[in-house]
Amino acid sequence: MTPEEFRAAGHVLIDWIADHRTRIADLPVQAQVRPGEVAAALPSTPPAGTEDITALIADLERVIVPGLTQVQHPRHVGWFPSNAALASVLGDLASSGLGGLGISWQSAPALTELEQVVCDWMRQLTGLSPSWQGAIHDTASTACLVALLAARERAGGYSVEHGGLQSLPQPLVVYASEQAHSSVPKAVLLAGFGRDNLRLIQTDPQTHAMLPDALAAAMAADVAAGRRPAAVVVSIGTTATTAVDPLATLLPIAGQHGAWVHVDAAMAGSALLLPEYRWLIDGIDGDGAGSPAADSLSWNPHKWMGTVLDCSLLYVRDPELLIRVMSTAPSYLRSTADAVVEYRDWGIPLGRRFRALKLWFHLRLDGVPAIQARLRRDLLNARRLADAVAAEPGWRVLAPVQLQTVCLRHEPPGLVAADGAVLDGEALDRHTLAWADALNASGAGFVSPAVLDGRWMVRISIGVESTEWDDVEAVWTAARAEAARASAVL
Ligand code: PLP
Repeated sequence: MTPEEFRAAGHVLIDWIADHRTRIADLPVQAQVRPGEVAAALPSTPPAGTEDITALIADLERVIVPGLTQVQHPRHVGWFPSNAALASVLGDLASSGLGGLGISWQSAPALTELEQVVCDWMRQLTGLSPSWQGAIHDTASTACLVALLAARERAGGYSVEHGGLQSLPQPLVVYASEQAHSSVPKAVLLAGFGRDNLRLIQTDPQTHAMLPDALAAAMAADVAAGRRPAAVVVSIGTTATTAVDPLATLLPIAGQHGAWVHVDAAMAGSALLLPEYRWLIDGIDGDGAGSPAADSLSWNPHKWMGTVLDCSLLYVRDPELLIRVMSTAPSYLRSTADAVVEYRDWGIPLGRRFRALKLWFHLRLDGVPAIQARLRRDLLNARRLADAVAAEPGWRVLAPVQLQTVCLRHEPPGLVAADGAVLDGEALDRHTLAWADALNASGAGFVSPAVLDGRWMVRISIGVESTEWDDVEAVWTAARAEAARASAVL
């Protein structure tokens, strides 16, 4: 494709994307396809020659769009928002168009230095002190793995430099709340700690936040048994209920054992753009006395804030701790520049995408005040929905609404007593899944069921860029209608 051909096809594609976003509210939210249907609609053999962009766009319309659950739809209130702000989409396009190669500072000085600059802008915007330095990773899952690799090596005296984990006399242990995201146990396993050395710490029955006493007891028991606490993952905004672990109380407990503290704020980190929500990470810098600072913090602009996937920030206080574990200096990457940041040594991949561009475009084209206003709108809408649910007979809000997610359940009288005691748990679960699945299948809205305290409930997680109160209300109306229908066949 020549640049001129690209220009012509690109205009067609941009027009199509703009049209798609304009009419997205008319589409069903949940993909209406059956397994295998998308593949069956495509040729089973590769194209023999060249095709025109119009043929491709016709297939986007015919096969691809119906094969997507429309997470940019204003009535998608299921999974955490995964916004793809169009301003950031342009930045992503610029990144691909430039075709930069981020393998060293020398290969793309602008890629490295823009990343340094936007990470520092984001640091300032979220109220972090200047002692934090950031890098952009693909996901919070990778960020957690990177943090745990560094934690493992610090706790194990840099065993990678000789016999590795297998040479350590003491098992190293990682702690996280029982509500931590599945990416945390996954990172623990991938980092080689082993399932036996992961402690999922009990949470408060009301707030679902990690219980500091339970953490302290687990750490003490491990030490008494000859094991070494290596890391604590603190969840700020858990996936099920957006519970907030009490960071300021947990830090000194971890600090007594020299354990690394990684703060996972994948979704909730966006709220730090609002000064009134900085309490979420109170204590992160330590108090200069008994309480040490956390070691790493990650959050995803690609969630609620809306910088298109993939864009996850990982801040550390001491990048040398990453570099010591992950630096490589093969001869073919010899650099003529000194004293520059080599981001390949701060994480896993060698070749890095120019992700800073999408954050840069997003911040400059949409502007921080507009992003903040949208976040505040979503917080208000969640509050308003929680009040409506609490006021509706037969419905219950199951967890504190600290951010933009409301956890609710329809509790028909035969299944749950007036005092909230569950009379028939299995039937209640069937009922919850029946109405939530029916709502999703209808295409009118999308909610996400999840298990809390062993029972199914439904999360309404507000935060798509285009979601207004009318959309939340429409989903709430549809939820009541589906629950009434499901109740009729109990
Ligand atoms: N941590 C939390 C609390 C999450 O909610 C999620 C995803 O929703 C993740 C981590 C993983 O995020 P990612 O998809 O960027 O790996």
